[in-house]
Parts: sequence; structure tokens; C-alpha cells
Amino acid sequence: MNNHDEALIGDYGMKLVERACEPGSFEYKIEITLPGDIGRALPYINAQVECIDYLHNEKFLSFRHDEIFCSMRPNLITIAMVHNREEALQKTEIIIGLLNDIWRRRGDIEPKYNGKKAKPPTLSIYKLLPRTNCRECGLATCMAFASALINDQAELDNCPGLLHEEHSSKRQELTNLL
Ligand code: SF4
Repeated sequence: MNNHDEALIGDYGMKLVERACEPGSFEYKIEITLPGDIGRALPYINAQVECIDYLHNEKFLSFRHDEIFCSMRPNLITIAMVHNREEALQKTEIIIGLLNDIWRRRGDIEPKYNGKKAKPPTLSIYKLLPRTNCRECGLATCMAFASALINDQAELDNCPGLLHEEHSSKRQELTNLL
């Protein structure tokens, strides 16, 4: 077996932990403890999952996969939220399988060392728009368009005003922010 065939996670311990904030709710988080340090794998995993937050120096990654919310540190994986042991086993198997698959394919993956780009405030986007509320973008107001841009429901090209020379520097700023 060469190094690329080695599973990232072989043995592990798994337990259910009751939510401290809601005792008696029958909702648990799963804690998966690992015997080894898998911090080296985090940039590869970050490149392949739907990242929620990634802090490279702190070696912390949280992500979503198939509606499973998961956070990772080098020796600990946490999955939220389950209601019973069967569900916990199923979700654990899915996540361990995902991580081992990513690790197996790491030779083809460009590691990613940055977290998700934070979304800019709506107002800062709005201030860079023409602010005429002309509706040519299909939305009722420039504020609505700003919100749509932030949520990836619109593109800068949808606003004809931004194509005018007088707005070129603002368009560039918007491109940088988004
Ligand atoms: S087309 Fe541009 S200027 Fe007109 S409402 Fe939409 S965002 Fe505002």
C-alpha cells in the first residue's frame, strides 16, 4: 500500500453529547475523536466541501455536506444535530467516507488555505449602485438589487447604468467586493 492509499481516518471513537443549552431536548451532537492529527488534511477538505468557516492558523473548519453540519479540528470532528444513535451512526459513516475519499484524491486537489469570503453589508453595495431605482434590472429598487447581488441572485451586468463610463470605478469596486 503506498501513502496515497492510506485512509485518513481508520479508527475513531464516537459518542453522543446532549446539547448543553437545551437539556432534555433529545437532540444531540456527535463527537468523533481521532487517535491521530489530521490537521494536514484540512486545506484539501476545505477545497472540496461547502465551507462555512475555515481558519487555517487555528486549524478549524466547519462545513455543510448533504444537510449535515460538521466542524473539524485536528483530533476532533463534531456533527450537529441528531436525535438517536442510528442517525448518528449513519451521519458519521457519511462524513468519514467523505473525508477519506477527499484524502484519497488529494493528489488531484489544489489545497485551499482561505475561508469563505465574508459577504459585504447590503448598504455598502447599495452606495456603489446608480441609485436611480429605474427598475431596468427587473427589481423594484437599487436596494433590492444590492441584496440580490449579495445573495448571488443577480449579476452586475443586469444593471445597465453600471456600464456607463461614469460608473466604471464603482463597478470595479463592486467587482472587488463581491
Ligand atoms: S437597474 Fe441599476 S439603477 Fe436601475 S434599479 Fe436596478 S440597480 Fe438600480
